This record gives sequence, structure tokens and C-alpha cells, in this order.
Amino acid sequence: MGRWSTLPLERRLALMMSGVLAAILVTSLALTYGTLTRAVELGTRERIGPAARQVAATAEGAIRQREQVMRGWAASPALRSALVESGSISDSTLAAGARAPGGMVSARLHSALAPQLAENDTALPLLVLDTRGRVALAFGPDTEVTSGQTLRAELERRISVETAPDSVTFTPMHPGSGDRYYFWALAPVVGRGEPVGYIAQLRRVGGPAGAQAQLQDLIGEQVTMYMHNVDGSFWIAAPSGPAAVPSRREVRGRGLFHDRDERMIAVTEEVRGTPWVLVIETPLGIAHARAWDTVLRMSAVSLLLVLIGAAVSWAIGRRIAAPLASLTAAAEAIGSGDYGRRTGEMATRQDEVGKLSAMFDRMAAEVEASRAELREQIARAEQAREQAERANRAKGDFLAVMSHELRTPLNAIGGYAQLLGMGVYGPVTTEQQDALARLSRSKAHLLRLIDEVLNLARIDAGEISFRMERVAVAELLEGLEPLVAPQMISRGICFEIADADPSLAVMADVEKLQQVLLNLLSNASKYTPERGAVRITCDAGQHHVRIHVADTGIGIPAERHASIFERFVQGERSLNRPADGVGLGLTISRDLTRGMGGDLTVESEPGKGSVFTVTLARGDDSPHVSAERAMAGEEVR
Ligand code: ADP
Repeated sequence: MGRWSTLPLERRLALMMSGVLAAILVTSLALTYGTLTRAVELGTRERIGPAARQVAATAEGAIRQREQVMRGWAASPALRSALVESGSISDSTLAAGARAPGGMVSARLHSALAPQLAENDTALPLLVLDTRGRVALAFGPDTEVTSGQTLRAELERRISVETAPDSVTFTPMHPGSGDRYYFWALAPVVGRGEPVGYIAQLRRVGGPAGAQAQLQDLIGEQVTMYMHNVDGSFWIAAPSGPAAVPSRREVRGRGLFHDRDERMIAVTEEVRGTPWVLVIETPLGIAHARAWDTVLRMSAVSLLLVLIGAAVSWAIGRRIAAPLASLTAAAEAIGSGDYGRRTGEMATRQDEVGKLSAMFDRMAAEVEASRAELREQIARAEQAREQAERANRAKGDFLAVMSHELRTPLNAIGGYAQLLGMGVYGPVTTEQQDALARLSRSKAHLLRLIDEVLNLARIDAGEISFRMERVAVAELLEGLEPLVAPQMISRGICFEIADADPSLAVMADVEKLQQVLLNLLSNASKYTPERGAVRITCDAGQHHVRIHVADTGIGIPAERHASIFERFVQGERSLNRPADGVGLGLTISRDLTRGMGGDLTVESEPGKGSVFTVTLARGDDSPHVSAERAMAGEEVR
């Protein structure tokens, strides 16, 4: 199968067509052979049948002649009257095989019959019998025992089976001395409508010696002729000589078959007026050989047809497959990057292949054009990206410079406000102190704004690098407490850090993570009213650790859950103090968390509080954290 599928299409087509053609021809040859053998068998029977009838008729002719002769003898009135008066016949019986007895009666019988007999009529036993089967007169040699029995059986048959009183009958054949076979002809001597005695003559079965050969010449077949008794006994190879009984006789289809050394087609014909059957046989093999001969001749023609079919289908296959092969080659070339490849002159053909090739060429041209366009677009995008990067860098530079430039005078403002507050430049009233405090807060706010804007600009410009390492969570959270607790307490908020598993660690840049958590805690305290609560908890999954900052504050409506992470997005101004935020904290926090390979998410409901969750990769010795994962974490920038 493997080899078949790798064969070129043109060869596969040719092989397939030849296969189909060969299958059809073989089937039709087989059918032809079957039909032919039947036809030849039938033909043979039709030739042999009439011959058998003819031979049987000849035999019947000879029988009729014998009948005539014997009737002539039996018609002799002298013989009849001698037999009528035969009461005095001695008891010499047939079984004893007696010679002609002496006496008056036999002398009269002898004188009545002897003059009618030719010389060879008495070469075999010829007997005159009375109605009881006793021998009244005998000519020729002694009667053999088997012959005697046959004759007695025939006499008994004539008595038991109704037979016309004057009919001449013939006995079944029986073997005698040597390879010879004999039969009796029995003619009744009739007086007053009743047999008064019989003339029985033993005859040898035979015919002209060349009968078989003549028959063969006549019907042109290799035939064998047999005779046998109706009861199936004593097969004789005609014209004479013993023969074997067939091992099996079978009637199949329309004919009789005899099994000998080989199977024979057999035709039988009864010899009328006798209990004999004539059989002519011819070997079935010879009939079949003739059919086989014809089929062989047809096979030669078929083979030629298959070869022509193969050649034609190969040529057709080539015509179909060659364009396909060159189309495939063109498609492969395009697949491997040679977009200029076309199908060539095939596209000028007027048939389907030509149309297909032309279509293919058009498609290839379109692919080539769109690739060129794509390349151009990529180049333009690359240019735009470079420009944007340059602009970004310029923005970063500008922000850095600006922040530096702003920071100096701001610090100066702060410094002088502090000096004023300390009374360095003279006494300060309570209102003035208050104003100075506002001045300081505004300065601090402005500074934070500048820091955050700068931070964001640096993140955008990719200038922030992360030093990833294993950070113990419990330790990190504990470190937050002193930084946050005073602010919480001053605002009357209950602050709590849940105990974390000391072995639990995350992969993170410790400073950035701290910055994120401080930001979340500062938001929590900002948006939680007095007597509220802020709580830090953590839990760990197979590969991740989640740190939750939960508060019981004002909460965030669901439709703002996404937008609060955008730049400069703040809640309603009236709800918080504008001086405390700029709307960049969550943006920066999420950028930083993502920079460490994690994420920052929120779950919140107005009035019920918010939970901000930082998710990061596990960094402890958990069996689920592979070395590769830790390495990958370290490379995050
Ligand atoms: P801001 O500087 O205004 O705090 P942030 O980016 O930190 O800026 O927060 C954006 C907005 O998200 C806030 O203005 C506020 O409306 C909302 N927000 C942040 N944290 C909380 C919180 N813990 N509870 C309620 N609202 C919050």
C-alpha cells in the first residue's frame, strides 16, 4: 500500500485500468469456457446419439433376419406333428445336456428339420425342446452348463410373463468358453395357437471386426462401443470381448456420464426385441480440450487487449497527470518561497487543465502582489515604530529634565515654607502657620505627582528593570507594618496582617512589590472611613501566590473595575481629597506587577469594600515549581 501511494499518478492509472480490464477479460473467459464446454458436450451427444441409434438398428436388422430363419424352421408341419406326438420323449433333460436320443420321435424330428439347416447352423448347439423343456433332438456340440441355465430361465420367463405364443425371443448375453459371449434365440413351434415345442439356437455375440473403427471414422470422435444386458450385467466391448463395468454412472444436467479411468460422455440405445443395451462413450476430457483450445486462443487476444488497454490508459494518465505534476511543482515552489514561479505554457491550453493552470497563475500573481504590499506595510510600520520610540525617548528625556527642573524650585519653596514656619524670619501667627502647612502639603503632592509621572514614563520607555529573586512573603508583609500602621491608626482604622506560611515565597523584585503593596494599602486607608478595617491575607496555589489587600471602605461599582486601572482615572472628586491622589497609582501598580510576570485584579462592591489581589509566581521550594520557571522569572525585565 505504501509503495502504491508513492507511485506516480500516470502509472497508478495505467495499472488500475489494466487490472480492471484483466479482471473483466478473465471473468468473461471463465464464463465462455463454461458455456463452451456445455455446448461441446451437447454437440458431442448430438453426434454420437444418431450413430448409436444406427448401430442399434443394424443389430436389430440382424436379429430380424435370425427371427425369419427360425420362424421358417418352426413352421415345418412335419416338425409340428412330430412334437405333438412327443409324449413318448425320454426323460433326457436339458440340464443333462443330452445328445439326441434315439427312437421314433427324434428320427421324425431329425428328418423334418435337418434338410432346412445350413452347415454353420449347427456349429453351435441347436436344440428341439418339448413344452416342458426336455430335449427332443440336439445338433452341434454339447450345451455348456451356463448356456443351459440361461435357456431354462428364458423358458420359465416365457411361461410366467405373458408372451405372444409365436414370438421369437432372445436371452440376455452370458459368457461361454474363452472371452466369448453367447445368447439363445428361442422360436416356438405353434400348433392350434399354442406352443407345442421350441427350437433353441445358441448364437455368439459379435459383429464385423472393424465396426469400432468404422464408427470412429463415421463420427470423427474417439469413441468406444459397448453392449450389456438391460439388468446391467455382462459388459462387452463391441464387437466382442469382455469389458469392465463403469465405476460410477451419473446423470447430470442433460446427459449420462460414466466414470472409468476418466470421465466419459455416454449415450445408450436399447436394441429392440432383445434384452440388450448398446452404449457409446467418448472421453469428456477430449470435449473439454476443444473448449479449452478455443479459450486459450481467446486468451491470447485478451492479453493483447490488456496490453493495448494498459498503453492507452498510460497515455491518458500521462496527459492528465503531467499537468498535475507540474502544477504540484509550481505550488511547492511557491510554498517554499519562490513566488515568481508560474505553470508556463500549460496555462495556454483550452481544456480544464489549461483553465486550472491559468487560475493558479493568477492566484500566484495575487499572492506575490499582496506579499510585496505586506512587506511594504511592515517596513512602514517599522519606520513608524522607530519614530514612536524616538518620540517616547524624547518625551522621557523631557520629563526627566522637567522633573529635575521642577523639583529644585519646589524643594526651595518647601524649604522656605519650613524656615518661615520655624519663625526664622520673625514670629508667625496661627493662620500663617496653617497656610504654611497647606503650602507644604501642596508641595509634597506636587513632588509625588512629578515622581509618579516620571515613574510611568520610565515604565513606558522600558527603562525599568526588575531584579527578580525569591521573596519570603511573611517577611515582606511584616516589613510593611511600621510603614503603614501609624497612618491607619491616625485615621482610626483597624489594620491587620494575617499570618503567612514562613516558607512561602514569590518570585519578585522586592522593592517593586513593596511599592505596589504600599500603594494598595494607602488607597485602602484613603477610601475607608473611620472605624473601618484593612486586612492583608495571602494564599497559595500550585504555581501561584495571591496577596489580598481587603478593606471595608466605600467600594467601587462594577462598571469602573476596568477603568480604575487606566491613567489619571479617579473616583468622584467629592468623595476623596483631591490633594491625596492623581489617578496614576493603580496604573503604575498593575504595570509593575505585570512586569514581574504577575497580575493585579480587583473585586469590589459599593458600600461593602474592595479586595485588590496581587498574583505572582511561586518562588518557594514547592515541588510544583520547576527550576525552569524560576529561571524564566529571573529573566523578566
Ligand atoms: P488615586 O491617586 O486617585 O488614588 P489610583 O490610581 O490609586 O488613583 O486610584 C484610582 C481610583 O480608584 C481612585 O480615584 C478611587 O476612585 C478608586 N480606588 C482605588 N483604590 C480604592 C479602594 N481601596 N476603595 C475604593 N476605591 C478605590
